[in-house]
Amino acid sequence: MAYDSNNIFAKILRNEIPCKKAYEDNHVLAFHDIAPKAPVHILVLPKGAYTDMDDFSQRASIEEIAALFRALGQIARDHKLDQGGYRVIVNCGLNGGQEVPHLHLHLVGGARLGRMIGP
Ligand code: 5GP
Repeated sequence: MAYDSNNIFAKILRNEIPCKKAYEDNHVLAFHDIAPKAPVHILVLPKGAYTDMDDFSQRASIEEIAALFRALGQIARDHKLDQGGYRVIVNCGLNGGQEVPHLHLHLVGGARLGRMIGP
């Protein structure tokens, strides 16, 4: 699937739409989900134009991959999620239920999250 530069997260990355920023570095932007599913629900994105995990895993540089995972851990610690634990979710494509076609990791925590996959 070709990258759609008009997707909502591309607009946030270009500062065309506001977000509640949680973290930023050269390769990564993270912001709070607009409809949080847990007390902490942060979306962690590579700044590069990657549609999903499949795309990212094939085309991203080692530096971008490392930056995404380093950032994820840092953001979790910044929000004290490392103490009680947390969950990272990546929806990929149709079966994964991905709605926004720019790769994003959901970092969720701050409460007991229950079963991993609902009925
Ligand atoms: P997906 O289903 O693609 O994995 O998740 C998309 C997520 O993006 C959803 O949790 C949704 O609430 C969030 N979202 C959609 N539009 C916006 C927006 O404009 N701003 C923010 N902060 N989150 C958004």
